[in-house]
Amino acid sequence: MLQTKGYAAQQAGAALEPFTFDRRGVGPKDILVQIHYCGVCHSDIHQARDEWGGSIFPMVPGHEIVGTVAQVGMEVKKFREGDRVGVGCFVDSCRTCVSCTKGLEQYCDTGMIFTYNGMDKDGEPTYGGYSNHIVVDENYVLNIPDGLSLEGVAPLLCAGITTYSPLRQWGVGKGHKLVVVGLGGLGHMAVKIGRALGAEVTVLSRSDRKRQDAERLGASDFASTSQAGTFTRLARTFDFVIDTVSAPHDLNAHLDLLKTDGTYILVGVPPESIPVNAFSLILRRRRLVGSLIGGIRETQEMLDFCGEHSLPSDVEVIPISQINDAYERVLQGDVRFRFVIDMASLENTL
Ligand code: NAP
Ligand code: ZN
Ligand code: ZN
Repeated sequence: MLQTKGYAAQQAGAALEPFTFDRRGVGPKDILVQIHYCGVCHSDIHQARDEWGGSIFPMVPGHEIVGTVAQVGMEVKKFREGDRVGVGCFVDSCRTCVSCTKGLEQYCDTGMIFTYNGMDKDGEPTYGGYSNHIVVDENYVLNIPDGLSLEGVAPLLCAGITTYSPLRQWGVGKGHKLVVVGLGGLGHMAVKIGRALGAEVTVLSRSDRKRQDAERLGASDFASTSQAGTFTRLARTFDFVIDTVSAPHDLNAHLDLLKTDGTYILVGVPPESIPVNAFSLILRRRRLVGSLIGGIRETQEMLDFCGEHSLPSDVEVIPISQINDAYERVLQGDVRFRFVIDMASLENTL
């Protein structure tokens, strides 16, 4: 067993506080990762507040993990001590179902094992990256390309792959108009990646506050839902929508942003259901699709793509003592564009 230091919510909605717990020892195929940075995803907040149901407590959130290899098991082949590595939203899966064999572990038939808020194969709960180290099977660990800072890479492990995967799946690229709805952690990566894939990108945000940021990130147009006439002006303009919004909103109004045969990619996960009117889809043969993170192979492809195109996340690095304030600021949409915890700060708090 490995004694680990971290921050946990002891129950739904509780403030996160210092927490010491045990992880399994390093098995033959395992890697011990010393965590340097961990991104703060809105999914951490949804789960720490049990907004989706079924949360397991105490919960150590965090699935945008980057660090260096501190130890490798006897049979590990892919990594060596000192390598820069990442761990994303899951740490294992069944490995034999159709999805797993296709490299789509996120759609594993028996369910992937979440990095936190999950049950591991040994029957123990999993604990995430708001902690000083983590033990993971080498097949679920990613290589970090040279040239990107570790803190800038952390959010790619969830926000990056969650936007990259559907943009690739649906062939978004040159000649396409893409609108990114919600300019937060996922949204800002959707702008960068969509632009790098060759699409013309518009940002749709709640207010005018993020206009300049959107342009800096690569958007060629910006619109605000609070301004009257926006939905009329932009009706039937886009080939693709990628919707990253974390709270209920009017899906029918947003569907009307699509041209005929346009595709609406839903990645945001509001806790409540949102009604969809059949006419919003049938009148223009629109597609409404969802997408969940990405498999290991595609996550590596995304990291390499972001390395080649120099697309780190825009981050605000915080000490872990500020995590509860950071959650409040994420809820206010007040982050440019991802909080990343400097895990060295953990030493000072325990
Ligand atoms: P985030 O940083 O909080 O960004 C969400 C953005 O949505 C906000 O910045 C805001 O953008 C907009 N927004 C928030 N509340 C809104 C409201 N009431 N009405 C309209 N717009 C609103 O969150 P994130 O980390 O990017 O995550 C976004 C969502 O994706 C979360 O629900 C998260 O759980 C989910 N997620 C899904 C996957 C997946 O695999 N599908 C993976 C990771 C996360 P503006 O300020 O620009 O309006
Ligand atoms: Zn996430
Ligand atoms: Zn499987």
